[in-house]
Amino acid sequence: MRTTLIAGNWKMNGSLKSVIELVESIVAGEVKNAQLAIFPPAVYLMKVGGMLDGSEIALGAQNVCDQASGAYTGEIAASMLKECGCQYVIVGHSERRALYQESDKLVAGRFAMAQNTGIMPVLCVGETLQERESGDTKAVVSRQLDAVIDSQGIEAIAHCVIAYEPVWAIGTGKVATPEQAQVVHQYLRDKLAALNAEVAEQVQILYGGSMNSSNAGELLSQPDIDGGLIGGASLKAADFISIGQSV
Ligand code: PEP
Repeated sequence: MRTTLIAGNWKMNGSLKSVIELVESIVAGEVKNAQLAIFPPAVYLMKVGGMLDGSEIALGAQNVCDQASGAYTGEIAASMLKECGCQYVIVGHSERRALYQESDKLVAGRFAMAQNTGIMPVLCVGETLQERESGDTKAVVSRQLDAVIDSQGIEAIAHCVIAYEPVWAIGTGKVATPEQAQVVHQYLRDKLAALNAEVAEQVQILYGGSMNSSNAGELLSQPDIDGGLIGGASLKAADFISIGQSV
């Protein structure tokens, strides 16, 4: 039986003051049926990690370097994230793929480094509007997932989270219908099942893209949606907690 994960990607938002307030409010909230995880900007990880001590809320980072250490200015090593208390790290977010030209190969390298360091990668896949309209949704998510399977093997998928995030739904207020999302989630699970049924049954597949407290309940009731990766709505504690309570 898969548990539900509600993950808040704060992106490059907030200040030290607002981050502290947000963490305090989230920690004070009551969510019984889902695991919560928050992904603050990297400079606040150490602080937030300390604030989460003793709580059930997990900490995650928004990216990780594909190299262990060395001359990679601006990058952050998986070992450093581990020291901050990170249990999760997002890899292949569509903003990274589109704005910083991260390739499938680089994303697979980041995934490997996280996993080899004992941090659970949250692998984002998803199609643009143009790709959806051309009927390429399944081919795109398949290619993005295959890049990791080909380099790490299918067993690696048992120790990650997949997030299906249609690019056209991210930060746009245009949410995928529960049926649209379920079709892709089921496709991903069936694809994995053809390689390893146990891995497919076990892996959590989150939906991301304008999920909020009004639409979360219906999305999360779909059989292959095991949680949410939430951007905008995770910046307000009440909304984030309310999504967690809709499970
Ligand atoms: C995201 O960036 O992962 C995301 C899902 O953002 P939003 O919820 O704001 O669409």
